[in-house]
Amino acid sequence: MKYTTAQHRRAEGRAGSYVWATRSAAIAFLDPDAVAVLDEFTGGRDAEAWMGADEASKERRQSFDALAALGLLEPAEFALPLTPDLPAMPFPLGTLVLNVTNKCNLSCTYCYEYGEDRIATPDSKGPALMSAETARGSVDLLFNNSAGRRNVSLTFFGGETLLNFPVIRETVEYAETRARAEGRRVSFALTTNATLLSEEVITFLTQHHFGVNISIDGPRETHDAHRAFASGKGSHAMIVPKIRALIEANRAAKGRPIGARVTVTAHSQDVRGIHDHLVNELGFDSVGFAPVTSAPGRDYALSGENYWTLLRGFSELADDFVAAAIANRHHAFSNLNDVLRELHHGVNKAHPCGAGLGLLGVSTAGEIGLCHRFVESGRHEVGSLSRGIDEDRRKAFLEAGHISTKVVCHTCFARPLCSGGCYHEAQVRYNDASQPNLHSCEWIRAFMDLGLQSYARIMDENPAFFARYEESA
Ligand code: SF4
Ligand code: SF4
Repeated sequence: MKYTTAQHRRAEGRAGSYVWATRSAAIAFLDPDAVAVLDEFTGGRDAEAWMGADEASKERRQSFDALAALGLLEPAEFALPLTPDLPAMPFPLGTLVLNVTNKCNLSCTYCYEYGEDRIATPDSKGPALMSAETARGSVDLLFNNSAGRRNVSLTFFGGETLLNFPVIRETVEYAETRARAEGRRVSFALTTNATLLSEEVITFLTQHHFGVNISIDGPRETHDAHRAFASGKGSHAMIVPKIRALIEANRAAKGRPIGARVTVTAHSQDVRGIHDHLVNELGFDSVGFAPVTSAPGRDYALSGENYWTLLRGFSELADDFVAAAIANRHHAFSNLNDVLRELHHGVNKAHPCGAGLGLLGVSTAGEIGLCHRFVESGRHEVGSLSRGIDEDRRKAFLEAGHISTKVVCHTCFARPLCSGGCYHEAQVRYNDASQPNLHSCEWIRAFMDLGLQSYARIMDENPAFFARYEESA
C-alpha cells in the first residue's frame, strides 16, 4: 500500500527533530535516521517495496511502524475528513461562570461589555447585580449537571465582579456546604479590576483559596491609556497598593498563583516591559497577554505590524522562559506555559475552548450562555435557570463550532491547539461565532512555532522540567 508523510511541524533539536503530528497531536523526538525515513515518504511511496525483503527489512519495518503509530506516516488514500462527532451529550459541566454584575466602576475603552463591540442585545440587560437566589440557583445548576465529576469550579465575573461581593460571599458558603454534603470539591476563581480589593475581601479570597486574575495592562502610562474611571482618571495608582496587599497575603497563606491578565492593544506593544513591571515590581505569579478583541477599524485594534511587534516581544519572553526552565526556575509568562503544557499532553481540540461544553455562563438575570462573554446576547442563549440547559441549542452550537466544519483549518498545523480560535472574537469580527478567526492565522501559527521551538530547547537541556505538567495532568 502507498503511504505518505502526514502533516506535521518540526523544531530542530541538538541531536534530531521534535515533530508535532497534526492529526494525532503527538509530539515526538526523531533522530536523524527517523527523520530521513519520514522525508523518504514525502509525496508517497509503496510501503512494502520500501521495507523490502532483505536483511535490513526488519529494522525498516520497525521504524515504519513507529512512525505510523505516531501518525506521521499514513496511507496516501487516507482522506482527511474530520468526523463531526461530539462527546456523549449532555456533557457534564466542570465550570460555571457567574456574571454577578454587569456594572463596572471603570470605563475601559476596549471593554466588550460596554464598548462598541458589545454583543448583548440592547434590550437584554438584566438586573445590574445578580441576586443571591440566582447565584444559588447557578450553584445548583452546576452540581446537578456535572455527573461523574468530583471537582467542579465556580468563576465569578463581571462588570466589576467585586461590586457584588456580598453575593459572592454567600454563594461560596452555599457551594462549599453543598460540596461537603456530596463528598465533592468546589474551587473558586474571580476576575477583578482590583479597585475594590479591601482588607476584608483579601482575607476572604485567601481563606477560600481563590484563583485571582487581575485585569491590568502594565506600567501606569500604558494601563491608564485604556483602564480609567468615567472621569478619565486612570486606575493604576489606586490599584497598585491593593494588588501588593493581595499578593503579600496570598503568599503568606500559600494560596494559588495570582495572575495578571493584560489586554494588548495597538497602544501597548512593549510586552517585555509590561511583564517586568508586573512580575518584578508588583509580584504577580503569572502574566497572560490577550490581544484585544475588536472589530477592525477601532484605533486600539491590532493589525499588521502590531501582531509582529507582539510576536517579537513574545519571542524575548520565550527566551527568558526557556532560560528559567533550564535552570528549574519558575517564569510567569503564562501564554507559553499553557502551550508547552498542551503540547506535552498531546492536546487535540475539536473545539477551541470549553464554552458550551464543560463550561457555561450565567447572566445576572439567570440566562445561560455559552460563556461569560456571550451571556445576554440572546442569539447564544442556551437555556435559563428556570428552564434548565437547552440541550438542543447547546448541541446545535457545538456542532456548528466543531473543527470538522472549519474546512480551511484542516490543512493547518496549528489546528490541534487553535481549532479556529475564540468564538466571541469570531462573533465580533464576522458576526458568526462558528467561523474560524482567519484574521490572525499567521500570528497564531508563528506563536505555535515559538512554542514548539521552546519545547525543543527545554527538552534538549532539561527534560525533567516537563514533569510539572505530568503532575498537573
Ligand atoms: S483559525 Fe487559522 S491558525 Fe487557527 S486552526 Fe484555523 S487556519 Fe489554523
Ligand atoms: S468563547 Fe472565547 S471568551 Fe468564551 S470561553 Fe471560549 S475562548 Fe474564552
